[in-house]
Amino acid sequence: MTKPVCYSTKAFSTASASAPLGASSIERRTPTTSDVQIQILYCGVCHSDLHYARNEWGFTQYPAVPGHEIVGRVTAIGSRVTKFKVGETVGVGCLVDSCRTCPNCREGLEQYCDNGMTMTYGSTDKILNRPTLGGYAQSIVVTESFVLRMPANLNPAAAAPLLCAGITTYSPLRHWKVGPGQKVGIVGLGGLGHMGVKFARAFGAHVVLFTTSPSKAADAKRLGAHEVVLSTDEAQMAAHAGTFDFILDAVSASHDINAYFNQLKRDGNLVLIGAPEKPLPVAAFPLIFRRRSFSGSLIGGLPETQEMLDFCGTHNITCDIEMICMDQINEAYERMLKSDVKYRFVIDMASLV
Ligand code: NAP
Ligand code: ZN
Ligand code: ZN
Repeated sequence: MTKPVCYSTKAFSTASASAPLGASSIERRTPTTSDVQIQILYCGVCHSDLHYARNEWGFTQYPAVPGHEIVGRVTAIGSRVTKFKVGETVGVGCLVDSCRTCPNCREGLEQYCDNGMTMTYGSTDKILNRPTLGGYAQSIVVTESFVLRMPANLNPAAAAPLLCAGITTYSPLRHWKVGPGQKVGIVGLGGLGHMGVKFARAFGAHVVLFTTSPSKAADAKRLGAHEVVLSTDEAQMAAHAGTFDFILDAVSASHDINAYFNQLKRDGNLVLIGAPEKPLPVAAFPLIFRRRSFSGSLIGGLPETQEMLDFCGTHNITCDIEMICMDQINEAYERMLKSDVKYRFVIDMASLV
């Protein structure tokens, strides 16, 4: 096989779990006939970026370039690309490829590909046969089937986190048919949680936010929560016990999940989307009493991600963001660990010079 041709682009990367991120130069493949080359304008900062940069999940390949909430402008297209034109604003989320033939891929559920999806970072690039590198960079090259159309009416910076935080909350709320007449809990008001609140409200549910941060209560209501429960307050938790149809848990760290099982009605379902570093102990009794369910959900496939973006375009939904420069990323990670994000950092990639 002939060696693929590459070009270099500026990026921010880390060399080890304990090193800060810093400026570097990385290689991307030159676009193949089915590729789209994108100049990255904005990249959201997901807590998964931090888990990955610090090898908290144990599979990080260094040097690592995180970032999977990418919005950019098309700068070149391969000769067989039909969906996109040079100059168009497009998005790339957590996936850049999959086998495309297994039953899950055929259903548009590429995130559950039986043969292993290719994640935007932390996988192996099928063409270059080396680790994929994410969106903290000036440009990226992605096969056209994994590139998304961005609604023209949305602010591109505030829309960037829809590519992960948006789809990760939209998908389980849709899959379990959350809607009018249901009482829905969202646990944790971070990047994912604040989008969970917005979508659950837009779908017509009665929305309750569980938070450990008393200072976020007013924001939660502004974002769409009908009620806010301070999860550290036993009396507030007891007042809602056994009343929820559905709870979406978007917490990034160890916490007592059993306290949330107790909030569910008979046959209620708690869906875990947070991916903490350590296992969460599950007690039997809160689940077996009242026949409660405990489920998980991973991002979303390409068709549903496009559906979510179009839904956001129609309903004018974006993320609440704080824009940062690329060299503020290490400080942003520290603030994220203190739950001090309102409610998603987005990197202005023009700052990477
Ligand atoms: P984030 O912005 O940092 O938000 C996490 C929130 O969890 C915090 O704002 C805080 O909310 C709450 N929290 C943090 N530490 C806590 C603790 N010790 N106890 C209780 N609550 C705590 O993170 P994110 O980007 O939304 O991501 C959340 C998690 O989802 C991460 O683990 C990430 O890797 C994972 N994730 C999963 C998927 C998927 O496909 N399933 C996709 C993307 C991300 P309050 O201040 O309101 O308590
Ligand atoms: Zn993410
Ligand atoms: Zn597949």
